[in-house]
Amino acid sequence: MSNLKFPANTESRENIFKALKELKDDDIPWETGKVMAYVYNTIPEAHQLANEAYMLYLTENGLDPTQFPSLLQLERQVIAMVADLLNGGTAAVGNCTSGGTESVILTVKTARDRARHLFPHITNPEIIIPETAHPCFHKAGHYLNVKVKTTLVDRTTFKADVKAMEQAITDQTILIVGSAPSYTHGVIDNIEAIAVLAQANNILCHVDACVGGMFIPFAKMLDYPMPPFDFSVAGVSSISCDLHKFGYVPKGCSTIIYRNKALRQYQLFSCSAWPGYTIVNPTVLSSKTGGPMAAAWSMFQFLGIEGYKHAVKACMDARDLVIEALKTIPELYLLGQPDISMLSFASNSTTINVFELAERMKAKGWFIQAQLKSNVSDAGIHLSISHFNAPHMAGLMKDLKKVVKALKTDKETLNSEQAKPDTAVIKNLLANFTPETLDNLEQLLGTDDKGIPADFVVINNILNTLEPAQRDELLIAFINKMFSVEQ
Ligand SMILES: *Cc1c(COP(=O)(O)O)cnc(C)c1O
Repeated sequence: MSNLKFPANTESRENIFKALKELKDDDIPWETGKVMAYVYNTIPEAHQLANEAYMLYLTENGLDPTQFPSLLQLERQVIAMVADLLNGGTAAVGNCTSGGTESVILTVKTARDRARHLFPHITNPEIIIPETAHPCFHKAGHYLNVKVKTTLVDRTTFKADVKAMEQAITDQTILIVGSAPSYTHGVIDNIEAIAVLAQANNILCHVDACVGGMFIPFAKMLDYPMPPFDFSVAGVSSISCDLHKFGYVPKGCSTIIYRNKALRQYQLFSCSAWPGYTIVNPTVLSSKTGGPMAAAWSMFQFLGIEGYKHAVKACMDARDLVIEALKTIPELYLLGQPDISMLSFASNSTTINVFELAERMKAKGWFIQAQLKSNVSDAGIHLSISHFNAPHMAGLMKDLKKVVKALKTDKETLNSEQAKPDTAVIKNLLANFTPETLDNLEQLLGTDDKGIPADFVVINNILNTLEPAQRDELLIAFINKMFSVEQ
């Protein structure tokens, strides 16, 4: 589709970097600390250290740890240190992965292949997850041909309804899941009760601690009350813990940890039946850089328990400040009681459209993450507050208050659910979805010169009125197009 040709001539290093830097001009300026998603950061010295450690191991290849024993050592040690935080004892084993999604895909594969081996009557394997579990479980089910059953969460606490999980168990169930905490609301599920169910039914229990694994242990050391969530809970078989979130390691770094080797064996893949080199992969990636592991290893040494505790304390203080400030904005309400410094709030006023709120905050330099309404909660705003965001939270809440006030008094923006273009027109368009639909929609809604939607308020308002299946169809068509437009 693009007319761009492969470079015929060489370009100077100077020009290349100039161009690369210019490309970033339109990105959200995360360095300000005013971006409450996507980027987790702590003190500048640690950030720099991790980047340098990453570069030092950029070229080494984790494909074959027998030829790069340095990577084997780094991985073993990173896993041992994380397992120590998660009370894994001496039997715990695990691997570094490219991210939480890969960790979860692997845990679902492990459960599937364990069932294939031990329980031949399971022909249509199912996993059970609460509605608030991260979508990567659906992605894992989609990739691995495993059915995903979603169970209710409480509409006030947003914790998994363990009774509902129990009722969902069948003779095909291979795995049940709890979040510690869920990304959306920052709420930790009742892991103890979920693990009891797993034990009673001889199925695996995965705790998704992608965000909590590097947070809750330090919060506990600081005497914040935290429910049991890790390997100290009998019945928990595996835990995913991202290091590129509250571990403050550069992206490409998560861990998947199992209670023992006997479980982890099902994660592995080997293929020696081709003419080339022997493949034995513990993870999804085959060739892989050692950068993330070196960065994680270095970050752990550099910050130590004290450094992480310090970061967690700052995050928890910031969370408390946000919660208190929200109480002074009657148009907004907190969703549940977040256990860590991740939270969501929604609007209970017809005059405050949260998508509009997010865009107006963006104009003031804040990135707050809009989320569509679901069966679980209203459309809302999510904040992931990491260490480098913490000092800015007073400013954030001050601006939030101002923007809410402005939205209320600004008659122009009243009821933007019905704002241009008419959602009825859009719904009509979508009823008969064809490739042209997208073009028509884009013409209606407008995109910028990079093919990125110009008006997220309108887009989100439209998506918000659609059923999830229709949202997904539209989003896939749109992204398919967005990655193919002419540059
Ligand atoms: C972020 C997250 C994931 C997915 O992690 P990625 O690193 O983005 O792949 C899974 N579960 C939870 C709870 C998360 O917060």
